[in-house]
Amino acid sequence: MSNYFPADQIQDLQYFGEFGGVNPSISDSSTFTFLKAGKMEELFEKEIEGCYLYSRHWNPMNKYLSNALAKLEGTESASVTASGMAAITNVILQLCSSGDEIVTSRTIYGGTYAFFKNFLPRLGIKVVFVDSTNIQKVREAVTKNTKVIYCESVSNPMLEVADLESLSKVSKEFGCKLVVDNTFSPLIISPSKLGADIVVHSLTKFINGMSDCVAGVICGSKQFIDSLSDVNSGASMLLGPVLDSYRSAGILKNIRTLHVRMKQHSENAMYISEKLSKDGLRVIYPGLKSHPQHILMQKSWNEGFGFGGLFVLDMQTKEKANMLMELMQNNNVGYLAVSLGNYKTLFSAPGGSTSSEIPEDERKAIGLTDGLVRISIGLDNNPERTYQTIKKCLAMVK
Ligand SMILES: *Cc1c(COP(=O)(O)O)cnc(C)c1O
Repeated sequence: MSNYFPADQIQDLQYFGEFGGVNPSISDSSTFTFLKAGKMEELFEKEIEGCYLYSRHWNPMNKYLSNALAKLEGTESASVTASGMAAITNVILQLCSSGDEIVTSRTIYGGTYAFFKNFLPRLGIKVVFVDSTNIQKVREAVTKNTKVIYCESVSNPMLEVADLESLSKVSKEFGCKLVVDNTFSPLIISPSKLGADIVVHSLTKFINGMSDCVAGVICGSKQFIDSLSDVNSGASMLLGPVLDSYRSAGILKNIRTLHVRMKQHSENAMYISEKLSKDGLRVIYPGLKSHPQHILMQKSWNEGFGFGGLFVLDMQTKEKANMLMELMQNNNVGYLAVSLGNYKTLFSAPGGSTSSEIPEDERKAIGLTDGLVRISIGLDNNPERTYQTIKKCLAMVK
């Protein structure tokens, strides 16, 4: 078990606004003035605390939000981006060049999969996909050219839980960087405390929690985060995935309630997945004893936030999965929509949507069949009531 207390770190953030406001002031400027010309020159060369040059580089609100996320993940530094994909692509492009290799888990978010499979080979970067729950397979895939070992702490959509301590041992042994996408388990798992070098998030999901914007973050050492905004060679500086200050301000406020939300998401997911599983349905949820990494997750988590807000229901066929989702929307269990981590329940069939980038034979190999329904449970006050409605819908599926 980790002894990191990220929720306390977030609680202790003390940011004052310009006029003593309880929220920091939003900087409504793309560019910043200098009293002395020499200072501008200096800032081009190195970061100066409290000094800003141009908003693509850094701006005050993005600094506040980035600092909050560094506290959340227990890293020295962090840098917010305009999307989760921007965070992932910028990390990889900063670390890898032509001739380098990446060893990645084969069960990852569809967009990341497509970037690895289709985009990186165009740049001469080789990606090897492995079953990352099998550490021996990971070790065998690493070569002298491997720069990155990549995984999700809890994978999308199969909810495999990564053995980060073992993966970090392999990455340290071979001198590569362990990059972990922690989108599914903020607060629950602190990858940097388990040996990850870089942690990324899609803030779009649980961290913002309102499904009203798209954003991401890269958390890591000060040296790595600074390298991303280097004016000559930084991926974030040169590719320009800057987050808007207004959105940044909104996300910063929502982080303040993340611990309350995660507990409720987890409590609801546990309650409903246990009931459905007792009813004889095949349910994938790390909180169930039947889940292969049920024990591992409890060994590595920060206690008190549960097993997360997602579970997967196996409806056996695509037709039944689709019928159930339409019934659940019509009976107001939630919305038939991609994405996750919203206050209201969201569900989709990953085979035909968020994981459709993965070819069918590979989906089969990882057990990602067409009958799966991924459910991101909302902040429902009464999970028994939600369970009863889902049960009613299930009874109507023919
Ligand atoms: C959604 C998601 C992403 C991509 O994030 P965006 O904010 O949509 O760009 C990356 N990884 C995981 C695990 C996700 O669920």
